[in-house]
Amino acid sequence: MSSEFDLIHRFFQRASRREDVIKGIGDDGALLRISPGVDLVVTTDTLVDGVHFPRDTNPESLGHKALAVNLSDLAAMAAEPAWVTLALSLPGADESWLAPFAQGLFKLAEQFDVALVGGDLTRGPLTITIQALGFVAHGQALGRDGAKPGDGVYITGSVGDAALGLAALQNRVVLDAPSLGLCLSRLHRPMPRVLAGLALRGLASAAIDVSDGMVADLEHVLAASGVGATLRLEQLPLSTTVRRALEEGQAGWEIPLAGGDDYELLFTVTGDRAERLREKIEATGCTVTQVGTIDAERGLRITRGGVPQALPQRAGYNHFAHNLG
Ligand code: ADP
Ligand code: MG
Repeated sequence: MSSEFDLIHRFFQRASRREDVIKGIGDDGALLRISPGVDLVVTTDTLVDGVHFPRDTNPESLGHKALAVNLSDLAAMAAEPAWVTLALSLPGADESWLAPFAQGLFKLAEQFDVALVGGDLTRGPLTITIQALGFVAHGQALGRDGAKPGDGVYITGSVGDAALGLAALQNRVVLDAPSLGLCLSRLHRPMPRVLAGLALRGLASAAIDVSDGMVADLEHVLAASGVGATLRLEQLPLSTTVRRALEEGQAGWEIPLAGGDDYELLFTVTGDRAERLREKIEATGCTVTQVGTIDAERGLRITRGGVPQALPQRAGYNHFAHNLG
């Protein structure tokens, strides 16, 4: 099975002689040295009609989400967002679609003082690509590669709400109206943890944003850091809606563990810095929960009340799992 990661590694991951590339392919964003004191962080993400969002998703939410997923990657690098470009492929010049799309995009951009500074507009299947650029003082960016044995594994907010919303849209679970509203708002209008990302600077040892699924994204941190981890299910931060769906047997643990689209920050921090970091993140209005510990022994172990549990069958979304051998 070829994953998108195999393909990127085989065809696009090449060493560069440029000394200003501090970090290229392999993290949430690239880290580029642009001046002695400041590093630039660059990231790009695409949303494709029918793959990343259902066909009838409202355009205002799409404008919001296309930007949010990119700001989330900058947050995971502890970068301050500054500029974005927008490459849009549209089936037609539908102004009743473009107006709310732009409104959703600019509303979020203004919230974080981000400027749209360029892009491209073409006719084709609906595809939205945003590139986001941000900056961070030299040496302060966070990567997936700094986790050390003994560090705590933490996550902001809660996991599983967006995946439960998607499951409800696909008629796999039934939610009451208020729960559905909450889950769909997490799915369609994720709020990137920009301020929490900035709070990680100088305190966290590694970070990633949870886009593909918590287990898959934690595994990226483990692989990049050359460590393992134990995840304790009973500590997972779950909304009452997700907790109830689990208790009722409507949803399995793969929803919070592998569902994805959470856009929370998962990070690691050494014991003596953990409380300071928790206070700084909570001061941004965001909850934070310890969900596990980094181990020297490689691999991921999941326990519940101390009892080992099976890993979810599908750790995260893989774009090429089905159509490539
Ligand atoms: P994320 O989920 O944080 O957006 P991805 O898992 O999509 O990150 O990508 C992993 C890494 O591979 C990132 O560093 C990304 O920039 C890089 N990457 C993805 N696609 C390509 C490509 N076609 N060419 C070069 N690098 C790529
Ligand atoms: Mg990411």
